[in-house]
Amino acid sequence: YRNGEHSEVVVPTPNGAVTFGQNHPVVVVAGPCSVENEQMIVETAQVVKATGAQFLRGGAYKPRTSPYAFQGHGESALELLAKAREATGLGIITEVMDAAELELVASVADVIQIGARNMQNFSLLKKVGATGKPVLLKRGLAATIEDWLMSAEYILAAGNPNVILCERGIRTFDKQYTRNTLDISAIPVLRTLTHLPIMIDPSHATGKSEFVQPMAMAAIASGTDSLMIEVHPDPAKALSDGPQSLTLPAFEELMLELGALGKFF
Ligand code: PEP
Ligand code: MN
Repeated sequence: YRNGEHSEVVVPTPNGAVTFGQNHPVVVVAGPCSVENEQMIVETAQVVKATGAQFLRGGAYKPRTSPYAFQGHGESALELLAKAREATGLGIITEVMDAAELELVASVADVIQIGARNMQNFSLLKKVGATGKPVLLKRGLAATIEDWLMSAEYILAAGNPNVILCERGIRTFDKQYTRNTLDISAIPVLRTLTHLPIMIDPSHATGKSEFVQPMAMAAIASGTDSLMIEVHPDPAKALSDGPQSLTLPAFEELMLELGALGKFF
């Protein structure tokens, strides 16, 4: 990861190639935590597209803390993501949890997400490295920067240079007011250590929708290359991560505010 050869990640999407990297507009990835049904994912995708964001996110396989919580709709959710991609031309980012589903996920995803809980699943990292598809590597809940970069190295060493690093908050002693603590300093720190593009996920970092806007602004001010934002047509009824999800109008407003910072075009 200290090799300066690959300083950007270029992802082909139906709407054209999107570049993650410095000296490029901030790339925005938005969508629900989980793909729940066709109507909600297509409606969300249409709004995401209209704001100028480039990627739709949505989980088909969900890494839930409780085995009794909603686990994602799996393969049928992947099919709905493919429909949303066709309807809007947005690139798709979705998580793979298990190597058994890697081929299926890779057939729909333009970028494969490795979730925080799998950041050190080294056998999975080697396998996603071997697919050659761009990989979004989320920082583990208690991972140091060095741990995280070594996990990225597993993917790079497998011959895949297209890795994006996503800071999504780390565990600290305070769980009362925020779900995690956003390590905003990871942005300038990573800049001294790696050429890999950086994404900030203020939704999982804070766990509360009202804190998403200020943390997104902070991420842009600190030089992030991209943002991941959870949005849902009806957050109160979301099957996962409702409290941190923006409504569609709130997301539209956020995009206008971020656009005013002049980093999008
Ligand atoms: C997600 O992106 O919905 C997710 C589960 O994120 P994380 O792995 O960062 O918790
Ligand atoms: Mn989520």
